Amino acid sequence: MEKQLRVMVVGAHPDDCDFSYGGIALKYAAAGHKVKFLSLCNGCYGHHIMTPQETAARRYGETQEAAKIAGIEYDVWDVDDCSIEATMENRKRLIREIREFHPDILFSHRTNDYHADHRNAAILVQDASYLLIVPGFCPEVPAMRKMPIILYCWDKFQQPPFKVDVVVGIDEVIDKKFEMFHCHVSQLYEWLPYSHCEEHTVPADPAQRLAWLHGNPIDRNSLPDDERILSIDAKNHSEEDEAYLASLYRKELIARYGEAGRKIHFAEAFGVSEYGTQLTEESVKELFPF
Ligand SMILES: [Zn+2]
Repeated sequence: MEKQLRVMVVGAHPDDCDFSYGGIALKYAAAGHKVKFLSLCNGCYGHHIMTPQETAARRYGETQEAAKIAGIEYDVWDVDDCSIEATMENRKRLIREIREFHPDILFSHRTNDYHADHRNAAILVQDASYLLIVPGFCPEVPAMRKMPIILYCWDKFQQPPFKVDVVVGIDEVIDKKFEMFHCHVSQLYEWLPYSHCEEHTVPADPAQRLAWLHGNPIDRNSLPDDERILSIDAKNHSEEDEAYLASLYRKELIARYGEAGRKIHFAEAFGVSEYGTQLTEESVKELFPF
């Protein structure tokens, strides 16, 4: 490792970071880099039975379990779901937390994502970006000298469509990414199936749940079947859903990994924000050393 990178991921809810960046976070952490996930909301409304207080407490515990598996830090703000707003107070709070962590790379949502919390998290990151290097603003935490590279996670929204800049294969960590998902019991096995009217499909026996989450396993010994995978509707975080981006960005994977890119089953994709430091061919090699 030439330099220990500092990687920060700002999500809206206590599982967004895992879904969109679990693979790349595992790769950074395994290579000895420092990773911090931050959820701006406490997840309190992500359940149909528990009270908001019970849900927030349980979800905090789930983030810490996932963090242990990945070997990363996972912070959760004390802001209720559906309540994060791009206020001055939150802008300053985020600027202080980003400056304290001092990331080389900062990941977040796009501002046209579907959920108001995702959009407000994205706006807060955008609003913070330039001010990270302005010493007179929030002088209690020293300003950074250089803005981080800011990247958006992939999303399906089309107004405007996602512009991809970096695609990373995550085959070697996909099972561990599922182990991270598996920590979010209240979401993957309770709330999300309930919200999709599929709660009856979840095995009662916890021992069978991880296999249920994987769904139809991808045959990892054969070449990816992009046609089949492209026809599925990504909503359940199954293996087929996780394989979607590798099929969507096959050309980019081949450009990055050569012929090996044809054989990658799972990937994560990111687009560069215009408001941070821009990526160069050199910095892609330095910041995505895998
Ligand atoms: Zn979310």
